[in-house]
Amino acid sequence: MTSCQPYELTDDQREMQALVREFAEREIAPHAAEWDQTHTFPTDVIRKLGELGAMGVGFPEEYGGLGMGAVAQALVIEELARFDSSVAVTIGANVSIAGDPVLLFGTEEQKQRWLVPLAQGEHLGAFASTEPSGGSDIQAARTTARRDGDEWVINGTKSFTTNAGNDLSAFVIVTAQTETNSGTKLTAFIVPTGTTGYESQPPYHKMGWHASDTRELVFSDCRVPNEAMLGELGKGARVFLQPLDGGRVGVAAMSVGLAQGALEQASAYAQERVAFGAPIARQQAIQFKLAEMKTQIAAARLLTYRAAALKEAGQPYTEEAASAKLFASEVAVRAAEENMQIHGGYGYIEESAVPRFYRDAKILTIGEGTSEILKLVIARKMGLAG
Ligand SMILES: Cc1cc2nc3c(=O)[nH]c(=O)nc-3n(C[C@H](O)[C@H](O)[C@H](O)COP(=O)(O)OP(=O)(O)OC[C@H]3O[C@@H](n4cnc5c(N)ncnc54)[C@H](O)[C@@H]3O)c2cc1C
Repeated sequence: MTSCQPYELTDDQREMQALVREFAEREIAPHAAEWDQTHTFPTDVIRKLGELGAMGVGFPEEYGGLGMGAVAQALVIEELARFDSSVAVTIGANVSIAGDPVLLFGTEEQKQRWLVPLAQGEHLGAFASTEPSGGSDIQAARTTARRDGDEWVINGTKSFTTNAGNDLSAFVIVTAQTETNSGTKLTAFIVPTGTTGYESQPPYHKMGWHASDTRELVFSDCRVPNEAMLGELGKGARVFLQPLDGGRVGVAAMSVGLAQGALEQASAYAQERVAFGAPIARQQAIQFKLAEMKTQIAAARLLTYRAAALKEAGQPYTEEAASAKLFASEVAVRAAEENMQIHGGYGYIEESAVPRFYRDAKILTIGEGTSEILKLVIARKMGLAG
């Protein structure tokens, strides 16, 4: 099934979309079920995607990227999620919550050391904000960083960190409470993998995204030099929140891709499954489900591309990113559920991709801002929150 293009893409964007689609069909689709069942992080495929340019699409050429912008980056993530959300989130988190903070707030030296190899696909980065005591209220973090001469000493625990413990992981950006002239405030630090006192725990046993790398991180008297500070002292919340808008566009793109994949599975099955003497696709009840899925996906795609286009144009896009993620993630959950309903009992059996898509969908309404938090962001932009 061709996915409709509600947004006028450039030739370069279409070319990148086709390149990633062809790669995903060849290198990812045949293995996605096995990675899911064995909880395997596909290091080689992530490396190959790096060689293809998938991590650098949106970054400027001077920092190792392809300079194609945020819409092309969204297209890459969408195409990957049509087949495997774990691979899509590995790329999405790497570029938006690890690469973008370095691009936006890093010194030239930090960009050369961490961003250039990330954009070229040589290593992965992570951002650790969430803690066992909470994720939505980022200011309430309990991790601390204490100044000691030319160093900072970090202590605390971060939960649910994506990309912090696999063979390609090179650094994690950590937010920690620091003493400033105006009180205790969050500051961000870049901590290289392998730093003494920084330990990543075994991967979580998750409901979905089995082939992605999510871990708890423990910092015990972990020392980093002053040059590890990312952005200014006491401005760590900004270092996390500003790139998070881009992260939300990435999750929206992932949602559109997952929903599109679910629609394609459901549509193909409906045309081959016979009940009461005819393919179930002839039943109006099934046609209505597929028509609604298609319409909702088209709307989600428009919102997603609009937010990406605003980011690319350097215009404010906080509200648009929140709207796109809020709507698209809920569309993805519905599409995954309808896909299972249309598959009947077979949809419940792990031999097909249907349950994997169902399990992978739900986190889209939680990670990088829950649906509730996104509504608060939109309400604030509407001037309703004081
Ligand atoms: C697979 C996976 C990967 C992740 N990757 C990362 C990562 O790389 N880096 C990272 O830092 N974090 C990561 N996270 C964490 C994720 O961002 C958080 O789970 C999410 O932000 C929600 O935080 P929480 O789980 O602590 O829920 P809480 O903040 O405790 O919220 C619980 C519930 O209360 C609701 N709620 C909270 N406050 C309000 C409010 N003011 N108004 C209304 N409702 C409210 C929430 O919407 C939610 O429904 C990941 C999580 C998972 C599961």
